[in-house]
Amino acid sequence: MTMKSKRRVYPTEVIPADPAVPYPQLTDREPCRTSDEPDQWFHEDEDAGLLCQGCPVLAQCALWALANPQLSAYGVWGGMTSRQRASIYRRRARAQQKQQQVAA
Ligand code: SF4
Repeated sequence: MTMKSKRRVYPTEVIPADPAVPYPQLTDREPCRTSDEPDQWFHEDEDAGLLCQGCPVLAQCALWALANPQLSAYGVWGGMTSRQRASIYRRRARAQQKQQQVAA
């Protein structure tokens, strides 16, 4: 029996951001930048909506994260955890599939 390695493999290439959705223009008033505990944004069990509440770039951050899943794979972005973002991707894929079936 062989043991699987648990070593993490990090990407070696630079992953480009989607140019159609610009990164939010940060203001230094974003809760993730002003918090005394920025690690909270990496704890997926936190209430993501509450963490980002009042952020001046909440909508832009959410759009950017959804447009760049490889760059926002972990942590809280735009008031969403990675599980919440994954749920949105699945719903989008199902909706696209239905659209294609209707069009065919
Ligand atoms: S919405 Fe984005 S920029 Fe604003 S606090 Fe949340 S993670 Fe930070």
